[in-house]
Amino acid sequence: MKAVAVFPAKRKVQLVEHPEPPMSSPTDVKLRMLEIGVCGTDREIVTFQYGSPPPGAEYLVIGHESLGEAVEVGSSVTRVKPGDLVVPMVRRPCSDPTCAPCRAARQDFCTTGEFTERGIRGAHGFMTELVVDDERYMNVVPATLRDFGVLTEPLTIAEKAIAEVWKVQQRLPWTRPAGTGQPPGRGQRAVVLGAGPVGLLGAMVLVNAGFETTVYSRASGPHDKSGLVRSFGAKYVAAEAYTTKQLAEQVGNIDLVYEATGASPVAFEMLEVLGTNGVFVFTGVPGRKGPVEVDTDLIMRNLVLKNQLVLGTVNADRDAYRGAIRHLATFASRWPQALGRLITSRTPLDEAPALVAGQPTGIKSVVVLE
Ligand SMILES: [Zn+2]
Ligand SMILES: [Zn+2]
Repeated sequence: MKAVAVFPAKRKVQLVEHPEPPMSSPTDVKLRMLEIGVCGTDREIVTFQYGSPPPGAEYLVIGHESLGEAVEVGSSVTRVKPGDLVVPMVRRPCSDPTCAPCRAARQDFCTTGEFTERGIRGAHGFMTELVVDDERYMNVVPATLRDFGVLTEPLTIAEKAIAEVWKVQQRLPWTRPAGTGQPPGRGQRAVVLGAGPVGLLGAMVLVNAGFETTVYSRASGPHDKSGLVRSFGAKYVAAEAYTTKQLAEQVGNIDLVYEATGASPVAFEMLEVLGTNGVFVFTGVPGRKGPVEVDTDLIMRNLVLKNQLVLGTVNADRDAYRGAIRHLATFASRWPQALGRLITSRTPLDEAPALVAGQPTGIKSVVVLE
């Protein structure tokens, strides 16, 4: 079968003929892949900055954001049936018996760093025709989400983040009075840094949760991000036109920052204007560039005197996938056009090597099979 693979030693990315994966356990599910999303991680892998083939393999099949259709299920599979749309999870636990998170099925918190990630690290990915994996890593998606299911994985980043925000903000019980029936973010203000797919999906989660949400971003490309952002009820503030201080004056007390750029200078500038009792969530992974000057006295003063909290989050657990699928269904009914506009291109598999190796264009590029 066909697959898109990166050869780190040969510094190549190309279409390969890859062996069909066998069904090897009664809990295995075989998927026919339908769509595979491309993101910054894929671009880092195909420029050899990140990622590794499975042990002993010359190449890595890439692709980790995906949507497939179950075509075969093992005799002990209970949750997935042939014909179901499925989004497989990306990270697999390490084998160390002392890694408590992995043993508790929370490999997103793996402490050994020996986890594998399909399409990224030590395990083949999903940019291919057929994929087999255990049902415990499979998430069934309603058939009505055929056009948007591929956005599940990038949305899980916001899902895990917001789940942690709700937990840590239990320290502020008056912000979520029980029994009011109000959305939990009502009366609070959130800023999203960045208007790529992770930022835009995160902004949708925050608007949906009732936050007064502002997306702060540099315009890039021909896409009208400000119009798109407004269409689902958030505000857009252009980073070229307003400093972070001016942004904070417009917004008022910033209760939550959801960082989705991977650009550390603007993130730390934003941290300087985080509000009283605010939470700052980092999701981006910056490249290693030169040191940047940061006003550490100001930030430390604020952290203490304003009860602030900074948290980083990576990867996602099964609940985050479930949350993402539920949210996609909500967004598809509330903002179908905005959701549709997140996917800006669909490219056949044969042309995928050029797509992932080329400059990013638009918001989310998707590779399609069929
Ligand atoms: Zn990704
Ligand atoms: Zn582990």
